[in-house]
Amino acid sequence: MNEKKVIVIGAGLGGLSAAISLRQAGYAVEIFEKNSQIGGKLNLLQAEGYTFDLGPSIFTLPHIFERLFTASGKRMSDYFTLRALRPHWRNFFEDGVTLDLYPEPDKMADEARKVGEPPENIERFLKYSADLYDLTNDGYFENGLDNWRAFAKHYGPWKFFQFDLFRSMHQGVASHLQTRYFRDIFDFFIKYVGSSAYRAPAFMNSLPTIQFRYDLWYVDGGLYNIARGLGRLLNELGIKVHLNAEVSEVRQEKNRVTGLVANGEFHAADIVVSNMEVIPAYEKLLRADKKFIAALEKKLEPACSGLVLDLGLDCQYPQLAHHNFFFSDHQKEHFKTVFEKHELPEDPTIYLVAASKTDSTVAPAGCDCLKILPHIPYINDAQPLTREDYLCFKDRIIDKLERMGLKDLRKHIVFEHVLTPLDIREKYNSYKGSIYGVVSDRWKNLAFKAPKQSSLYPNLFFVGGSVNPGGGMPMVVLCGQNVAKKVVAWDKS
Ligand SMILES: Cc1cc2nc3c(=O)[nH]c(=O)nc-3n(C[C@H](O)[C@H](O)[C@H](O)COP(=O)(O)OP(=O)(O)OC[C@H]3O[C@@H](n4cnc5c(N)ncnc54)[C@H](O)[C@@H]3O)c2cc1C
Repeated sequence: MNEKKVIVIGAGLGGLSAAISLRQAGYAVEIFEKNSQIGGKLNLLQAEGYTFDLGPSIFTLPHIFERLFTASGKRMSDYFTLRALRPHWRNFFEDGVTLDLYPEPDKMADEARKVGEPPENIERFLKYSADLYDLTNDGYFENGLDNWRAFAKHYGPWKFFQFDLFRSMHQGVASHLQTRYFRDIFDFFIKYVGSSAYRAPAFMNSLPTIQFRYDLWYVDGGLYNIARGLGRLLNELGIKVHLNAEVSEVRQEKNRVTGLVANGEFHAADIVVSNMEVIPAYEKLLRADKKFIAALEKKLEPACSGLVLDLGLDCQYPQLAHHNFFFSDHQKEHFKTVFEKHELPEDPTIYLVAASKTDSTVAPAGCDCLKILPHIPYINDAQPLTREDYLCFKDRIIDKLERMGLKDLRKHIVFEHVLTPLDIREKYNSYKGSIYGVVSDRWKNLAFKAPKQSSLYPNLFFVGGSVNPGGGMPMVVLCGQNVAKKVVAWDKS
């Protein structure tokens, strides 16, 4: 066993994945987490008989999580249970049209015909998406490519052009699909990374493949059971987790980090992996100079934040599926308002999850529990919105849902909990309250995030949504696995 010690700052999914993968590679690993539980944004809220996934609720690409278990000779199914969902999503439009998404081509074709979208358009689009996914997966995902040089070396000049580099995601969608319904739906797959379909590069059209090829899953009892399962694995591997242990400083000597300070005590380490996002970590833990931070800020603009509204109801709405989207009537404007003007949208597209449709344990009998999540701008520190501003916006959301069929929703609320971007920043130390790390923007970063290894200290690594390949549960878990490979390769060199 390698005697070197790695300390991971933060027990989000990225940090947990890095810790497990590094332990499996033979390092002694400890984790320091500021909160009283592991999981980071993968979090839950239980109150008055209702259980809410406070963070993620859509589980995709389970095979990436499975690797954490198989590398220790275990099976993920012994730790938590998955269930494929049908339909994947239900989409509601202001004119009363409702469309479901299914991975089965015949069912998808029936939905397309309802609004005059030729089914072959959807097939062609999904083939285009699958080709982009395979291309992206082969290098950027699985080889953990971090910069242009590594990209050019892996892909060579010809494959480069297959990334559909000269169009936005929306242009890629619009060139395949003709109805506004399916254009809006497939544009909104950008929700997986909290960005704008009009600003993201066309290769983000790889996103539908994670759902149409690999399916969309629910974890029985709620998604926090993933964190509980990983917690068991940490124990079995002998990884010590220090809870309520906020790291306040990473110490440096010459060009190396030597360890960190938590709760006033110094802990030495040979290697440090930060699951705290890149900019706050350089700013607050390493006290990097202003010029260095300003250069990072230019490239690593945050993805959007969100208003997380959890509602316990005294009734059920039979028209809801497990996952639902209530579309803006002006989606282009919605994207522009959130991602370019950085204002609260007048008419947002709203994601609503009703886990009670699948899991009878998450709400009292005959009741629904709803998590509602409109994407909104990250915090503007120069002119921050107040909690009251966000609560006014919440009323706009309820008005829209009532207008679009959830009749008398307000009257049926018996429990309510609201997380604003200010709470999200406070809870997870996320940069400006972002929920997916760094934005994917063709003009700012071409969807590249920060590299996994620090450019200042070679024994400092980063993992999570602000690092390649970016936010979303499977991506940060993949990032943790790739960070471990990078650490091992660097350590051997
Ligand atoms: C409301 C919401 C809905 C989402 N929906 C989905 C979804 O449906 N599907 C999906 O795949 N993804 C979704 N996401 C995104 C997904 O949750 C994240 O991309 C992912 O969980 C982030 O993991 P991470 O490891 O990068 O960071 P985090 O989960 O933020 O973990 C970072 C950890 O580091 C800790 N930390 C920070 N600073 C310090 C410090 N100084 N000392 C000690 N500890 C520290 C934090 O407390 C935290 O535990 C959603 C996120 C949110 C918030």
